[in-house]
Amino acid sequence: MAVNILTYLEQSALAYPDKPAVIDNELCYTYSELMERAKQIGSALCLKTAPRKPIPVFLEKSANTLALFFGIVYSGCFYVLIDPGQPKARVQKILETLQPELMISRLSLKEQTDSLEFDGALIYIEDLQNTPINDTVLNVIRSQTLDIDPLYGIFTSGSTGIPKGVVVSHRSVIDFMEYFTDIFHITNDDVIGNQAPFDFDVSVKDIYSAIKAGATLVIIPKKLFSIPMQLLDYLEEHHVTTLIWAVSALCVVTTLKGFTYKIPDSICKVMFSGEVMPVKHLNQWQAAYPDAMFVNLYGPTEITCNCTYHIIDRTYAPGDILPIGKAFPNEKVFLLNETNQLISESNTVGELCVSGTALALGYYGNWEQTNKAFVQNPLNTHYQETIYRTGDLAFYNDEGLLCFASRKDFQIKHMGHRIELGEIEAALDKLPEIVRSCCIYREEKNRIICFYEGSLDKKELATQLHQILPSYMVPNQFFQVEHMPITKNGKIDRNQLKRQL
Ligand code: AMP
Repeated sequence: MAVNILTYLEQSALAYPDKPAVIDNELCYTYSELMERAKQIGSALCLKTAPRKPIPVFLEKSANTLALFFGIVYSGCFYVLIDPGQPKARVQKILETLQPELMISRLSLKEQTDSLEFDGALIYIEDLQNTPINDTVLNVIRSQTLDIDPLYGIFTSGSTGIPKGVVVSHRSVIDFMEYFTDIFHITNDDVIGNQAPFDFDVSVKDIYSAIKAGATLVIIPKKLFSIPMQLLDYLEEHHVTTLIWAVSALCVVTTLKGFTYKIPDSICKVMFSGEVMPVKHLNQWQAAYPDAMFVNLYGPTEITCNCTYHIIDRTYAPGDILPIGKAFPNEKVFLLNETNQLISESNTVGELCVSGTALALGYYGNWEQTNKAFVQNPLNTHYQETIYRTGDLAFYNDEGLLCFASRKDFQIKHMGHRIELGEIEAALDKLPEIVRSCCIYREEKNRIICFYEGSLDKKELATQLHQILPSYMVPNQFFQVEHMPITKNGKIDRNQLKRQL
């Protein structure tokens, strides 16, 4: 088994040297070109830094960005993509946390990088062209790396307002990828259509499943996700077979009636994660692709992409709960109740906890948050067993499959009742006129607020909900929106909705 993800790149470069490894709007690298380019970058960088340091990449995603990632790994360091499109204050907080010695960007972003407070050296990608490959040095670095060394850092939002940098090791990604490509039959015949930003861990699945299998990664331009017709043309043109997308990205296609325009016939695997997939939208995808494999993937960044999966084996009715299924091999996923007892019976909600090799190394430079979330398994009093407490609530259905109930923060106490806001959203999903919905609780006012996209007027909606929900669960206020606001990671933007109140 590989101990460094570069083994995946090198094996694919050996097996498929001339095959396109990564394609963006401007560039295509074959496997041998990608490896050469990465080795050049690694040879240049290793002269400027010691191994195991974070190197931020202040760039948009592209084929070159991917070459930089691998170049950073050749230098023995780990990469952290910082999207230049995000607010300067957030970039500054990330840099404060990382205190990097080096940062990489491109000349055309000079104005932006010049405005950042940053003590390290700034390197432009243009300066990394054509450095000769120094195999001797790269081999020495490689011989000193461990599989527990960090591979990448991804910054999540963090409830304190300070972004937390989740650091993930080679070993965690390898452990996950070995099973992921195997279970979902990802092979060198696949073309993976990348939707997720490179600072969101959904992209980790795109990148490493492609590189491991010798498949082709096609980076889909972001702007196409608001123009489904062009998006579908693009998928067809590139013969994309595999979509590993955020739920909202799939919903854009169905909401804007993309399939009445065309159904690209190469797609055979559709996987989704990040939030609850509304059944109504899944049904439309299943109708368009009756022979495709559909998979609900669940998990937070801290456990390396996903810890559970469910291959959808039937159709569901709107309002039904799609299982998140069962644990990936070599991951232990279990539920704890409020007194830290194991839940094994069905239909009892508890916090979903995970242990295994796939657990991240923690939050970079943030011991307090790391120690809060990565804790000793309370069920194991004999030896050290770290678990990650996800803060998500789940339960087993009657078939023994795990089902996502809600975030712990979205479980509310309202009029004396414990309510999961997700249950109200599932009820809204049952109504054919509702396209998407999101419920928020205003604790100070004791009110459940429902935002929805769809054609029903508020009064009619309340009347219909009274027929399917107990009255204490019917939202107290409704807001009809033209489009649900979506975060850049493809989830419903609850903060933006709250700001409308
Ligand atoms: P992130 O770390 O940004 O990927 O967010 C992870 C969180 O997204 C999880 O803790 C869940 O709250 C939510 N999530 C991820 N996948 C699913 C899924 N398939 N169904 C419901 N919620 C999900």
